[in-house]
Amino acid sequence: MKSVQTSNARDRVSTRTAPGESTEPLCVGSDPSKFFPDGLGPALDSQVAAAKQVCSVCPFRLNCLANAIRFNAEEGIWAGFTPRERRRLSSRAKSLARFDRHLIERVAAGHIVDVDRQDRSTVVMGLHRQGWDIPRIARAMELTPIAVQLNLQTELELEFFLHAHERSKLMTAECPI
Ligand code: SF4
Repeated sequence: MKSVQTSNARDRVSTRTAPGESTEPLCVGSDPSKFFPDGLGPALDSQVAAAKQVCSVCPFRLNCLANAIRFNAEEGIWAGFTPRERRRLSSRAKSLARFDRHLIERVAAGHIVDVDRQDRSTVVMGLHRQGWDIPRIARAMELTPIAVQLNLQTELELEFFLHAHERSKLMTAECPI
C-alpha cells in the first residue's frame, strides 16, 4: 500500500474500538487499488467487489462512512460504497424529508397507490416493520419477492447512511480520525 493511501485508510476511522474488535481498519495493508479502483470494465468490477467484501466485515464501517460524508469524499470506496452509491444515498436522504408516511398506511389499507420508484424501498420497509412478510408485500405492491428483498436492502443501506450522516455531524475537529 502506498504511504499516502495507508495514511488515508487509517484516517478513515476512529481508533476507538469495542472489546474483541480489530484495532485497525481492515483495508490497512490491503492493495490500494481495491479501495481506489482504477480499472475498466470487468477489472473495475472485480476491484470494487473485492473492496466491498473487505468492508462488509470491517468493524469501522460506520465511522468510515461518517468520515466520507464529513469530508465529502469524491473518490474511493468507503464502507463498501462507491462514489456513485454515496451520491445516490445522499440524494435519497435529501428527498426523504418530503416522504409522506401516510403512503405506507394507504398501501397497508389496500388502497391502490402509485408509489414513486424512489419511495418504494421506504414503503416496503414500512410494511415489513408492521410484520408483513415478503410474499404479502410483493402482492400488495405488485413486485416480485426478489424485488422486495432488494428494496429492503436498499432501505437498510439508506438507514446506515443516515446514521453515518448523524455521526459525521458529531465529529469535531478534535475527533481522532
Ligand atoms: S469500512 Fe472498508 S474502507 Fe472503511 S476502514 Fe473498513 S475496510 Fe477500510
